[in-house]
Amino acid sequence: MSLMPARALKSFACGDVVPGCTRTFRGGDDAEILALVAAHAAADHGLAEVPAAVVDAVRANITTVLAPVG
Ligand SMILES: [Zn+2]
Repeated sequence: MSLMPARALKSFACGDVVPGCTRTFRGGDDAEILALVAAHAAADHGLAEVPAAVVDAVRANITTVLAPVG
């Protein structure tokens, strides 16, 4: 049996937490996603710091996806 080469990635859609936002993020782990979201929140949502409640909401909405390699 052969499988297509793939790797697991974490994915997050900002719109799951901020209605109307269309940005999506992918990273190797939750911490990478959270770092990307923090930068995006500062730049696009005016949040100098991401509140703990938002971090929790982001974590709750991070999903794992399989991405093809190559
Ligand atoms: Zn956003």
